[in-house]
Amino acid sequence: MSEIQVLIKPASGMCNMSCDYCFYRDETFKRTQHSYGFMTEQTLKNVIRKTMLQAEGAITYAFQGGEPTLRGLNFYKKAIEFQQQYNKNHIRVQNVFQTNGYALDNEWCHFFREHNFLIGLSVDGTAKIHNTFRHTRNGKDTFDRILRASQRLDEYGVEYNILTVVTNQVALDISEIYQFYKERGWRYQQYIACLDPLREERGNMQYSLTPELYGNFLVALFYLWYQDLQAGNQPYIRQFENYVGMAAGYMAESCEQRGVCGIQNVVEADGSVYPCDFYMLDEYRIGNFNTDLLNQIYRRRREIGFIEESQKLNLKCSTCRFYQLCRGGCQRNRECNADTGLYANYLCEAYQMFFEACYDKIVGIAGNILQDNMLTE
Ligand code: SF4
Ligand code: SF4
Repeated sequence: MSEIQVLIKPASGMCNMSCDYCFYRDETFKRTQHSYGFMTEQTLKNVIRKTMLQAEGAITYAFQGGEPTLRGLNFYKKAIEFQQQYNKNHIRVQNVFQTNGYALDNEWCHFFREHNFLIGLSVDGTAKIHNTFRHTRNGKDTFDRILRASQRLDEYGVEYNILTVVTNQVALDISEIYQFYKERGWRYQQYIACLDPLREERGNMQYSLTPELYGNFLVALFYLWYQDLQAGNQPYIRQFENYVGMAAGYMAESCEQRGVCGIQNVVEADGSVYPCDFYMLDEYRIGNFNTDLLNQIYRRRREIGFIEESQKLNLKCSTCRFYQLCRGGCQRNRECNADTGLYANYLCEAYQMFFEACYDKIVGIAGNILQDNMLTE
């Protein structure tokens, strides 16, 4: 078995904030057991032991929620201990921690720095936009506190990415947001299209992102980024970097951009495993790290045909002139046609708008990179 990705939810779906669009809260209410409470150290040990002993080369542990800080710092100190104890094959270990930042104090930051954690910090643009949908459980604003958390991370020299959920508000104000991130020195940015509730009609929520808004957002962001790229001063925006990499012949790092679901192990607090964060429902449960071996979990993944389902793209995609870069997007945004059993992406119109405007530029950037590589070889 080669590199392994493990995404762990130590506090199940529990959170110290209450964001209106939280996709995980929506999922937990669509399964039999809403919350699995806190993960025990014994379960954590089983997860780390069973994955580390099988991995080759590298392994990534991403702690996520709900809000992972709720499980307390000692849990993560234990995680480091278990990683050291079971790293018999001397593989590279990367720890990632995705947080809303609400509870980050000096002690957390010190720990992250000491153990080289890569942090994903959720911020939705400027104060006004962030506070629209991201609040405390009592409905209070959270932006100022999150900004202080980012300053703390800076002080301790912790590496972090800004994770921004693209709601309709973010899409409309992307120029202002881009400028604000620049002023803050937030150079590593990841934009995630906001999801409507699973299996419900799309576009009805206050935060809903329509294909048209998303298309306009992608084009506007790309042009801002492209302008800075020409000045040699662009931030790292994961989606665009991936498109350029794909145009240069490399594989995208994220499954959303590869067009096919990847092999992920997403672990709930009780040790149950699911194939993707977006599908942590009863019918997608593929095992439990307390009782099953990794091989059994992988076998069950094949049995439910999770990855295979994402290969059933409709004819529009397979004949699309942008397919090489778009690849039909993330399966979570696709809808199945009951007659053909094939999938089409709800955001297709957005991708068409984006690639119409930016495809040639992406290919051009990739060409320049390949040329530079040849000259330096
Ligand atoms: S649904 Fe999307 S995020 Fe989940 S594995 Fe498939 S492509 Fe990846
Ligand atoms: S632009 Fe639309 S049709 Fe073309 S590959 Fe993407 S999702 Fe499919």
